[in-house]
Amino acid sequence: MRPEAPAGAVRQLAALAQYGDLSTYAHQVQRLGGCERPVRMEGHRLDVHAATGEIVREVFDRDLPAGQLLIRCNNRRATRCAACAEVYRKDTFHLVTAGLSGGKGIGPDVARHPRVFATFTAPSFGPVHNRPGGGRCRCGRLHPDDDPALGTPLNPERYDYRDAVLWNAHAGALWARFATYLRQQLASRAGIGRSELRHCLKVSYAKVAEYQRRGAVHFHAVIRLDGPDGAEGDPPVWATTELLSDAIRSAARLAETPGPVLDGRAHTFRFGEQLDIRPIRSADFTGPTDLSSRAVAAYIAKYATKGAETAGTLDRTIRNPITDLIGTDVTDHARRMILTCWHLGGLSELEELRLRKWAHMLGFRGHFSTKSRAYSVTLGALRQERADHNEALTRERAALAGHPLPDQDTVLVLSHWRFAGTGLTTAESWLAASRRPDTPDTEGDSSWTADETN
Ligand SMILES: [Zn+2]
Ligand SMILES: [Zn+2]
Repeated sequence: MRPEAPAGAVRQLAALAQYGDLSTYAHQVQRLGGCERPVRMEGHRLDVHAATGEIVREVFDRDLPAGQLLIRCNNRRATRCAACAEVYRKDTFHLVTAGLSGGKGIGPDVARHPRVFATFTAPSFGPVHNRPGGGRCRCGRLHPDDDPALGTPLNPERYDYRDAVLWNAHAGALWARFATYLRQQLASRAGIGRSELRHCLKVSYAKVAEYQRRGAVHFHAVIRLDGPDGAEGDPPVWATTELLSDAIRSAARLAETPGPVLDGRAHTFRFGEQLDIRPIRSADFTGPTDLSSRAVAAYIAKYATKGAETAGTLDRTIRNPITDLIGTDVTDHARRMILTCWHLGGLSELEELRLRKWAHMLGFRGHFSTKSRAYSVTLGALRQERADHNEALTRERAALAGHPLPDQDTVLVLSHWRFAGTGLTTAESWLAASRRPDTPDTEGDSSWTADETN
């Protein structure tokens, strides 16, 4: 159903309709696939025939219905752009699924490799309101499910905010330590050296960060054992799911990363006691403790579009921890974490943690979702596949209309675009909401980063 157009938009649209290009305007906006905060660019593009120098296509900003080029924001966060986050979620689902069941260039045999879904937690920084076994909290109350007090400290004055923030800031480094220990543990269980291990298996993973209500980062990871060349080869027979689970448990217990010395106290960071490891079975089987690959992929994809806002903080950089928080929904607990980041961020010995820049993330500056290179396809490849598909459609339409486009290999593209702002005008918002196409244009970067540790 069409939303009602605001008066300003109606005036703009009526003026446009007079010039007869309303439908092309609608088309330009709708090609954004519902993106709410597109990037606006000014400039032009020339497609030149490489051999003859003939200009085969020109695009000038002034000729575009919006007067500017509009590009999807591609933000992964659902709080920033629902449409782009949805594309990101689906791509992440396919990426994780490909590494569990095959597809997108990965063979189906990968489903037989040992793989588990593991959750790594942060240690305690002080008692928090909770529901032990669904029962009464230490404070004496029975907290309902949606009680905002859940996860917040019983006594904020005694909660170790400094440790909590510093732990988040070192979580990425701790994961890297864990990955090294995991290979050591696997090698020692097989009775071989670490360099020998590299010749018989590879550890692949895809992981996502999730904020707990207490503002601490958790990692959820698919960890898989492959042959030495990655997903296409079988790991040795001794590499079982049980052996993998055991090795993960030991590596998580042993992993530690050194932190700063503050007020004479040397900090060291480790994972919390709680560690959940579950074997992943094939898509159609779910035992009482095993997970299906679909459930795992859906879980990771869901968290890939979230940020620290689930812990009651902001989804954007903070420039002033006092004024930026006025009038926001930031919780008292998150506010204390943010202020702790701000305070520690001012200490020269902690400069490299860039705690002020990452205060809205409560100190965590790692990537939200990462995968080892051999895990499966990349998000970039999934986007390219879609771009190629769109390009093929454009060519087909041009050919049908009697103006076939020249072969891409013979064309030189000269683009000169500069940033001109973000967002949609009122009229554009209305045009965007009036119809949502299924296949958006997609281009741009990926925040899934290839991890080089493997
Ligand atoms: Zn967007
Ligand atoms: Zn309580």
